[in-house]
Amino acid sequence: MRIIFLGPPGAGKGTQAARIVAKHGIPQLSTGDMLRAAVAAGTPIGVKAKAVMDAGGLVSDEIVIGIVAERIEEADCKKGFILDGFPRTLAQAEALDVMLASKGLSLDTVLELKVDQSKLVGRIVKRAEEARAAGQPVRKDDDPEVFTARLDAYNRDTAVVTPYYAARGQVIEIDGMQPIDAVTAAIETALLGH
Ligand code: AMP
Repeated sequence: MRIIFLGPPGAGKGTQAARIVAKHGIPQLSTGDMLRAAVAAGTPIGVKAKAVMDAGGLVSDEIVIGIVAERIEEADCKKGFILDGFPRTLAQAEALDVMLASKGLSLDTVLELKVDQSKLVGRIVKRAEEARAAGQPVRKDDDPEVFTARLDAYNRDTAVVTPYYAARGQVIEIDGMQPIDAVTAAIETALLGH
C-alpha cells in the first residue's frame, strides 16, 4: 500500500501516519523527521536545512526529493509506505511520479486531512504545552510565529498539490477536526477499498 498524507501543518498527519504504521506494518516516511535527524546529526543536508526549518520555510525541492528517492530504495519500503509531509510542492509531486514510474509502481491513495486553519495555531500551542509537561523536547518550529510562517508556506506552495492528485480522482477527504480516534476510524474506512 502506497499512501500520501496531505494537509496543513498541525492537521494530525504524523499522529495518524504512526497509527497506520502500527496497524498495517508499512513505514512512515516523514520528510520532517528525516530533516530533523539530519539537523541533529549535523550532516551537510542538515546544516543547509536548519535555518530554513527554523524560520518555517520549505527546504529546497532538490534536497527533499533526494532524501525521499534514497529512502524508498530501502528494503522496508517494498511492502509500501506512507508519505507524511511530502510532496509539498508541485515539483516534488512530479518528481515522485517519476520515481514511482521508474519502478513500475503507483500510488494507492491520497488522504487529505481537512482542518479549520483558524484552529491550528491553538492546536499547536497545546501540542507544545503537552510535550513540555511530559518532559519531551518541544519543536522549535511549533512557536506560534514560526508556525504561522509554516501555514503561509503551506497555502503558498503546498495547497496546489491536492488538486494535482484530485484531477486524477485519487484524493479521499478526511475530516481532521474530529477526535483523534474518529479520524483514525475514518482513515481505516477509506483504506478498506485499497
Ligand atoms: P514537518 O515535520 O512535516 O512539519 O516538517 C518540518 C519542516 O521540515 C518544514 O516546516 C520544512 O521546513 C521542512 N520540510 C519537511 N518536509 C518538507 C518537504 N517535503 N519540502 C520542503 N521542506 C520540508
